[in-house]
Amino acid sequence: MPWLRRSPLVVCMGSTWLQTTRTVLPHLAKLVREMRPTAHLSSVVELDAESLIEKGVRAVLWDVDGTLMSHHASALPRPLETAVRALLADSRFRHAIVSNCQEPRLEQLGEIFPDVPVLLGYRSEEGARFRVRRGREDTWREGAADAWSPATPGLPIRKPSAALLRAAMAELGVEDTGEVLMVGDQYLTDIASANLAGVRSIKVPTLERASFPIPVRVAQALENVLYRLRHGRPRLGWGAES
Ligand SMILES: [Mg+2]
Repeated sequence: MPWLRRSPLVVCMGSTWLQTTRTVLPHLAKLVREMRPTAHLSSVVELDAESLIEKGVRAVLWDVDGTLMSHHASALPRPLETAVRALLADSRFRHAIVSNCQEPRLEQLGEIFPDVPVLLGYRSEEGARFRVRRGREDTWREGAADAWSPATPGLPIRKPSAALLRAAMAELGVEDTGEVLMVGDQYLTDIASANLAGVRSIKVPTLERASFPIPVRVAQALENVLYRLRHGRPRLGWGAES
């Protein structure tokens, strides 16, 4: 999309953490009410396929950096690889990646997860457009923006926008929000977007926090404090938060 690559707005928005901060901060008072996940787990390896089927989960939306690997890593870490690859290969589930990344990272994620669609969203004049990367192939999907999307055409639509998750559901052909599970490591983006979209969510601790830029680590620490102030210490396991 040439207009997008040339857009000075996209260039001047700078790094992903700055973009995310600009998305989150104006809505912080509302977003702190959307931080509670369906469950906290200590790792994605605890996502058991049979248990997910029992709970009615048929589609999994994944955050990547901090959830499946360290910041901008090029491969799954060994302790997670077998379990995650098995879940991704399980034909009973559909998967998509919704990452607050930039375009080069989207292309890299397409190579790391060649069978999983990776979505990036942009505000358009009409609503929203979503770049869907499958392996090395790109398609574009028209969609709707939401109150959490930027108003200016050309700017990225980032979690906590629920529009990104709805586009992922549309890409997977899933209409029932009850069948969808978002998995992520950050309350104010991953979990808030899930709650705003009306889907269940799993919060895992951030992998390799030291691999993230300092502003992201500060944001992660702050949201952990906010969560504890509001909900107390996270309790691990399905049903523990209810
Ligand atoms: Mg993350």
